[in-house]
Amino acid sequence: MRRVVLGKTGMEINRLGFGGIPIQRIDQKQAIETVVHAVERGVDFIDTARAYTTSEKRIGIALKESEKRVFIASKSQQRTADGIRSDIEKSLYDLQKDSLDLYQCHFVRDLDAYREITGRGGALEGLLKARDEGLIRHIGLTSHSLDVLRYAIDDGLFETLMVCYSYLEWAAEKAVIPNALAAHMGVIVMKTFSGGVIENARLAVKFGLAFEGTVLIPGVESKERFDENWEIFCGDATLGRKEMLEIENERRQFDKQFCRRCDYCLPCPEGISIQIVIGIRSMVKRMGRSILQSGWQKDVIEKARNCTQCGACLERCPYDLPIPELIKESVAWVEDQLE
Ligand code: SF4
Ligand code: SF4
Repeated sequence: MRRVVLGKTGMEINRLGFGGIPIQRIDQKQAIETVVHAVERGVDFIDTARAYTTSEKRIGIALKESEKRVFIASKSQQRTADGIRSDIEKSLYDLQKDSLDLYQCHFVRDLDAYREITGRGGALEGLLKARDEGLIRHIGLTSHSLDVLRYAIDDGLFETLMVCYSYLEWAAEKAVIPNALAAHMGVIVMKTFSGGVIENARLAVKFGLAFEGTVLIPGVESKERFDENWEIFCGDATLGRKEMLEIENERRQFDKQFCRRCDYCLPCPEGISIQIVIGIRSMVKRMGRSILQSGWQKDVIEKARNCTQCGACLERCPYDLPIPELIKESVAWVEDQLE
């Protein structure tokens, strides 16, 4: 139950892996220590990306001395064969490896993007060539779009899929995950904590693990956060009846308007930190109203007043949030608080 074979790749790994997003935000020493600690405790699958700035480099340094077999996955948002080839070479350099276990087409937003990567001269061509040359061992795809994931399952061109799945976004459990597993694809679960919106690690990790056959890759920025997840993974991870009720309760608190803090909507031409502005209420709830007057959040809100409602962010949000409206509402809410 704690181990899984990642579909056709044949890679046998622990069902709790390590996501490389948060280690780009912290200082390098802490980032490296966190990765080393996770590997020492038993993590044998790490996922990173070209888009995660310093993440590949830091993982490369952390693993340099390790004698443990750790499977490494990375990914690129390049859509052409030449573009992804160049990114694979950069990933190999930063990760200090001669080959990578898995390389994925990252954030394939919609069917047009899917056609582009699978068409002539597209990224898939570059990945196949790199696989033939031994630079990568397996090929995967990541997407927030259920349509893209369904297509990819039917086409059978990829060996793994990375799918959003948490108790706040569970749509993939109806067809995508079971169908991918039935097609012997590896299923890598992202957004176990819904981009940081879920705060209850016990519920988040247990819910993710309840779907057998998948691997979860929650990102952590400290050893303590890692240990919290790891201990849940190693203990009795069964969701009890009371915990299911807790999940139902939390689901009711969120509706379609909740921001998963993925930052795909950036950059905003006005420099607005969209996810911070949309999430300002919960931040005030956690940290108190004073942050609106003296914290860095004050500047963030100041900038949000300049939102021109241009809508440039709208089409980048994979969850179709009405961002300009939410920005307006948040600014108005802050004005009320300050009155
Ligand atoms: S609508 Fe507002 S938040 Fe969105 S991109 Fe335009 S200025 Fe930025
Ligand atoms: S508004 Fe949408 S794209 Fe932007 S951070 Fe939130 S969920 Fe992500």
